[in-house]
Amino acid sequence: MSITSLTLSQLQQHLTDRTLTSESITSAYLDEIDRSEPSIHSFLHIDHNGALEKAQKADVLRKTVEGSGSPLLGIPFAVKDVIVVQGMPCTSGSKILEGYIPPYSATVVQRLEEAGMIVLGKTNTDEFAMGSTTENSAYGPSRNPWNVGHVPGGSSGGSAAAVAARMAPVALGTDTGGSVRQPAAYCGVSGIKPTYGRVSRNGLVAYGSSLDVCGVIGPGVHDLWPIYQQMAGKDALDATTVDSPVGSANLNIKNLKGKKIGVPREYFVGGLQPEVEREIRSAISVLSDLGAKIEDVSLPHTEYAVPVYYIIAPAEASANLARFDGIRFGPRVEGNNMWDIFFKTRGEKFGDEVTRRIMLGTYVLSSGYYDAYYSQAQKVRELIREDFVEVFKKVDALVCPVAPTTALKFGAHSGDPLAMYLEDIYTVTANLAGIPGMSIPVGFDNSGLPVGMQLLGNYFSETTLFEIAAAYQNTTTWHTLKPGK
Ligand code: GLN
Repeated sequence: MSITSLTLSQLQQHLTDRTLTSESITSAYLDEIDRSEPSIHSFLHIDHNGALEKAQKADVLRKTVEGSGSPLLGIPFAVKDVIVVQGMPCTSGSKILEGYIPPYSATVVQRLEEAGMIVLGKTNTDEFAMGSTTENSAYGPSRNPWNVGHVPGGSSGGSAAAVAARMAPVALGTDTGGSVRQPAAYCGVSGIKPTYGRVSRNGLVAYGSSLDVCGVIGPGVHDLWPIYQQMAGKDALDATTVDSPVGSANLNIKNLKGKKIGVPREYFVGGLQPEVEREIRSAISVLSDLGAKIEDVSLPHTEYAVPVYYIIAPAEASANLARFDGIRFGPRVEGNNMWDIFFKTRGEKFGDEVTRRIMLGTYVLSSGYYDAYYSQAQKVRELIREDFVEVFKKVDALVCPVAPTTALKFGAHSGDPLAMYLEDIYTVTANLAGIPGMSIPVGFDNSGLPVGMQLLGNYFSETTLFEIAAAYQNTTTWHTLKPGK
């Protein structure tokens, strides 16, 4: 039996039955990391010794009354490098944070560690989570385990590739415009972006504060559920978190009778790779066979989502990234005076994409242009939100593509940022509206690259998404397939 091919619940069962220890599980993942890292490059930091030490402690704790009842005790996980873990380097994929060691852990990490989970290391990301491929990481891109000539998606590409290659049973990611869902789709694994406000942002390196959500990536939705449950909920350190019960989901569900699922027609338009559409249509027929009623619906403002997102996200980023000045965090390039230090440090340490977005964001927020761009974008954002509010009066969830294509080849859009931005068409809407979204594997294109299907739900309706996805995964096997196997 290979330990790294077990599901989260199988790992939990082995720990409870004492047929495996946390030390043996953690070592198995660290060995897989040693084997796969040279070809995949999922990690920016690996905490070999720390993880093993914590695993040994978890094994001791398991023998106590307190420890024996902790379902996540001793389970390892990986953390995207825009989420801080106390004492572990956090670069956010940027040279401007090289050498920065955060003095505290993000609330999400704290909650998982309190449950006894063990951080294996920090995963690669596009610089400050800006990108769709990990090609914007200052530390080199990650590679797609299904075909190393292709990107793993981004910005949480390191996390998705780590899960696909079974270097971690689950991994945390962040999703500002699709960065959990799209890499999960490209890598043939599952991912959830919860409702904005469901999960604390305390300890996330801020990109677009009104859009950022912390999510989880794992092989199947059964692996995601206990992690999501553990990290969700009100946090005194994030005033935007909401005190709303997570609820319970029936993950053994076998049919979807009584569920209404909408298919938004604006998400099946030109530019959608035919093989992606083919696999999604066939997944929709599985949902229909399970008893769901499938309905054609419309989200009329979808076409404005990309331009609106690429005004609002850079605007917020330009403000959030002002703190990286060579004085307060990370390395400094010396200069003659304060402004000279700011100028040289930021000029030298930020990559091209981050610089482009800071310039774009500063421009749309500057006086004279604010009304023309930023405040217009906010108005259209509200129209996009209202589209969803209307449609969820009629259906329980929506199904659609995650991305127009399967995983791109490296360099596919190099030198053409606009073409790259257009790839985000199907994911940014959920962030603009703040609704939850999920990505699950539903097949392959003709070259053997995974296809993901997106599920979108009403505010705080994660349990509905989990149940629909679980019903699908209880009758299909896509989420169990591993690259090269
Ligand atoms: N690709 C999008 C961007 O570059 C989304 C990134 C994200 O969700 N962090 O902004």
